[in-house]
Amino acid sequence: MKTKLIAALAALIVVLVVVLVGVWALVLRSGGDDEARVSDPTPVDPDGTSSETSGPNGPATDPNDPAFKAALSEPVEDSVYPNVGDPSVDALHYGLDLEWDPESSILTGNAEIAFRATSTQEQFQLDLGKPLEVEAVTVDGNEVDYVHSGKDLVVKSPVQMDRRYVAVIDYAGTPEPAKAPTTRSDFTDIGFTITEDGEVWTMQEPYGAFTWYPVNDQPADKALYDFTITTPEPLIGVANGTLVDRTDDDDQTVTTWHLDSPASSYLTTLAIGEYERTTEKSRSGVPLSYWTPVDDPQAKQALRYTPVAMDWLEDKLGPYPYDSLGSVVVPSESAMETQTMITYGNTEYALSPETVVHEMAHHWYGDTVSPSDWSDVWMNEGMAMYLQGAFAAQQSHRTVDKVMEEYAVVERSSRRIDGPPADYDPRTFGQNNIYYGPALMWHELRKKIGDDRFWAMVKAWPSVHKDGNTDRKEYLAWIEKQTGEELTAFFDDWLLGKKTPKRR
Ligand SMILES: [Zn+2]
Repeated sequence: MKTKLIAALAALIVVLVVVLVGVWALVLRSGGDDEARVSDPTPVDPDGTSSETSGPNGPATDPNDPAFKAALSEPVEDSVYPNVGDPSVDALHYGLDLEWDPESSILTGNAEIAFRATSTQEQFQLDLGKPLEVEAVTVDGNEVDYVHSGKDLVVKSPVQMDRRYVAVIDYAGTPEPAKAPTTRSDFTDIGFTITEDGEVWTMQEPYGAFTWYPVNDQPADKALYDFTITTPEPLIGVANGTLVDRTDDDDQTVTTWHLDSPASSYLTTLAIGEYERTTEKSRSGVPLSYWTPVDDPQAKQALRYTPVAMDWLEDKLGPYPYDSLGSVVVPSESAMETQTMITYGNTEYALSPETVVHEMAHHWYGDTVSPSDWSDVWMNEGMAMYLQGAFAAQQSHRTVDKVMEEYAVVERSSRRIDGPPADYDPRTFGQNNIYYGPALMWHELRKKIGDDRFWAMVKAWPSVHKDGNTDRKEYLAWIEKQTGEELTAFFDDWLLGKKTPKRR
């Protein structure tokens, strides 16, 4: 995601307001409007939890599909946002069949989720927005009980460690975005957003996929995706991956999308609007597609920067990690590095060349290798910001040092207000502290170890955990090994220090 420069004073005022709002939200939450909904009790076959028992009425997905091996994860409980996600679920594949009615604002969904249980227990849990009413849940074809309380969908079906299952959830309702745990000025809500014209867009970092589908909404659990999106013409649905099929029948458009690289849920996207599509290829042969609002030549023009950014980034980081890259423009102020399909806001800022470089850089730093825990979001933003700065320096014939001087001004106040980059206040997600401090840290490391070793390290890292997750300990140990330097104090000072370390 992209950040804006915010004056310290303005930020302070925002912080005060947000603290007040946060307190208010806590008061509201503790009000306890947890309304439970339970389906008609249907006896569960005690042996019916095995995937092999799927009968002719069972789900279409085979949870033992060899392709799902790529989606095996080690789910964790998040240290910053522990209320989202369930570490006992390792989702492998989401088959999402979504129908959008802009007249009634009703989303009707059928989610077929293949997953591995990571422990043996009597029930398991998914995240699903409260406004979405669950109509039925089956596990391996058998109807099961559930309780949908707040955003927690507890499925009352026993699971055994390391066995695989397919849960199918039918649901419908008018999705509502969730409150973002942030003080940022460019986004306050996360997840499913409906425009006045009945169009839809989603941006959901650090969580909020649960506002439109049942999901284990924590980044350590990567999964594969297939989407089928039905919309009335002239609307069309855009999602991650490649467009497999499109039909236009009976005034309805149905698009199907296939994502063959495992993705964290915050990197999924759904955009429904009146789009036109243009395509080209990068110089290295990556198919590029642009989904821009009809009659929006400016958006189309801005995205033409993509192949330039691709050349620059592939030179620095190695081959693009995915088979194709799409871009979709939505009515937001921000931009988000959603996997293989970047979601850009429609403002001049969100569509600037620097933003294009930033979001694309995330596909190496954030998407193919993702943090397991939200305390490590600096791993994404620090490098994206550093690359953006290096690119900006080159474009404007300045030195990177000069750009870093600008970063340093913002970094000092943001560290003071929002905390150290790797130990931030959970209510101020995505503030400048996770961007500028780590970017400066990379520049200091570059000066310390020299250009050759620095850029070799930057290029090598994304393929060490391709399509996976990592944490600070593993990453920093790898850097020390790669560079042959002892850097514990250096990293601790930059990532956990209350004050900005001295720069060279
Ligand atoms: Zn970013």
